[in-house]
Amino acid sequence: MQQILVVNCGSSSLKFAIMDGTDNPPILEGIAERLGSEHSAISFKYAGNKTVQALHDHDHRGAVTAIKHWIDSNTDLALNIVGVGHRVVHGGETFSNSVVIDSEVLSGIEQCARFAPLHNLAHVKGIEVAQALFGDIPHVAVFDTAFHQTLEADQYLYPIPMRLYREHHFRKYGFHGTSYRYIAQKLATLGSDFALQNTLVAHLGNGASVCAIKAGHSVDTSMGITPLEGLMMGTRSGSLDPSLLAFISDAEKISMKEALDILNKDSGLKGISEISNDCRTIETAQAAGDDRAELALNMFASRTAKHLASVATNLESVDHIVFTGGIGENSPVIRAKICQRLAMMGIHLDLHANQISPRGEVSLISENHCKTNIWVIPTNEELLIAQDTLSLIESSASK
Ligand code: AMP
Repeated sequence: MQQILVVNCGSSSLKFAIMDGTDNPPILEGIAERLGSEHSAISFKYAGNKTVQALHDHDHRGAVTAIKHWIDSNTDLALNIVGVGHRVVHGGETFSNSVVIDSEVLSGIEQCARFAPLHNLAHVKGIEVAQALFGDIPHVAVFDTAFHQTLEADQYLYPIPMRLYREHHFRKYGFHGTSYRYIAQKLATLGSDFALQNTLVAHLGNGASVCAIKAGHSVDTSMGITPLEGLMMGTRSGSLDPSLLAFISDAEKISMKEALDILNKDSGLKGISEISNDCRTIETAQAAGDDRAELALNMFASRTAKHLASVATNLESVDHIVFTGGIGENSPVIRAKICQRLAMMGIHLDLHANQISPRGEVSLISENHCKTNIWVIPTNEELLIAQDTLSLIESSASK
């Protein structure tokens, strides 16, 4: 059996999993956190047991070295890692598909870093250390933006001078593309004609966005040139009047960049609830009667519903709505609040099915007579990265 090491590098963290490209749970998974600080540590979850180790070298290299060491020390598992799949946040207009990484691809990822500096530069670092330590196997990049490269110009352009697009590539790119592609593929397995139908997906996690999918292709999505646009999120404001940025900067006597930091890090559920960015924590507070928690959840649901209705204008019908991501998969409260606001589109939830939707499984939660199927489908971005890596390895071997 062949396996893929899936790597997702952040600026101070590195998530990883070893997958065989099937629905089987990862053989090994874990996360290295607080990279860059002397408290850096890495966790390994194997066969239901989790162990945590301090890292000797507190950087991405230290994390990948620890993973390699774990693999080399567990020879009894007879792991056969044939490739490494790297999640990359921004592929700009350069990458519309997953690719095997060579020096040209690496410099392309570096060039796209101007729109996602923290993410893409961390990915480059992760790729370079993984290539150094797992150099003899192919490395593949899978881009969050790639799935949305099918958007038409009238959807991806901002209504600003065309010169800014021509000269600087300022446009909507969209994110969560790996999750949307996974959902589109999964949905296609659930009914014979589903692959050709029209679907709205709400990927609701700490980062959140929606996507309209027509016959398997993205036709609109809510995130923009960065993941700040669109829905209200855990700590991000989502869309608002851009003038606000200048007002905040003037009023608080801070730079535009610091004002932008407020919109990215202190807004959303956290900003409104003044409790937490974590939806579960806010739901607990709401159940205990906290009005700020109630307001935050209502705003989150209202904004999600508005964006779903907005991207739906690119579809002739809405045959399916899919909820995914930590909140979408696990919060009946949020799903109900969103669907309630979409009743004018003929969206009707089966409240009981919504309430009992089993964790980690696909479930249909629409009322019987509802023309739109409402689904909960757990996403699995790591699996898609593993599958892309395996198929690119196979196709390059057959050339
Ligand atoms: P993600 O970024 O996809 O991992 O999702 C994280 C978000 O999912 C956090 O806001 C969590 O509070 C939320 N979440 C996870 N489980 C639940 C749950 N049972 N109810 C409500 N929210 C949840």
